[in-house]
Amino acid sequence: MINSRIKIISIEHFKIYCKIAVSPNIINRALKVSFIVGTALNLINQWGALTTIDFENINLTKFMLTYLVPYSVTTYTATVMKVEFQIGTKAIVEAYLKCTKCGEEIHVHKDELIPECSKCGLNTHWKLI
Ligand SMILES: [Zn+2]
Repeated sequence: MINSRIKIISIEHFKIYCKIAVSPNIINRALKVSFIVGTALNLINQWGALTTIDFENINLTKFMLTYLVPYSVTTYTATVMKVEFQIGTKAIVEAYLKCTKCGEEIHVHKDELIPECSKCGLNTHWKLI
């Protein structure tokens, strides 16, 4: 039996994911990681062509993909973490949240500190509604 972990998200949730993914904090972090990791991997994979500046033998598709992959992975990971709306962090977008333990609902604005649930305290776990 296959245990499917694929979650179908609504259009509204998708819009929130996209807003977070293109926010300046996420883009800056992804660009930094992409530059460092992509450069290291490009040097490993195309050392001869890059160190001798032999442009004819540099594979541009591999070169660009080597930067794109860490950018994508960093963006995905950071976005998923921000969507969890952890207490004590700033909300990166406006959202309606529901406590997964007691069902309490709140509305947070962009840059607002995400509070604890009034009933669950430090055990709060918010999810998008
Ligand atoms: Zn709660």
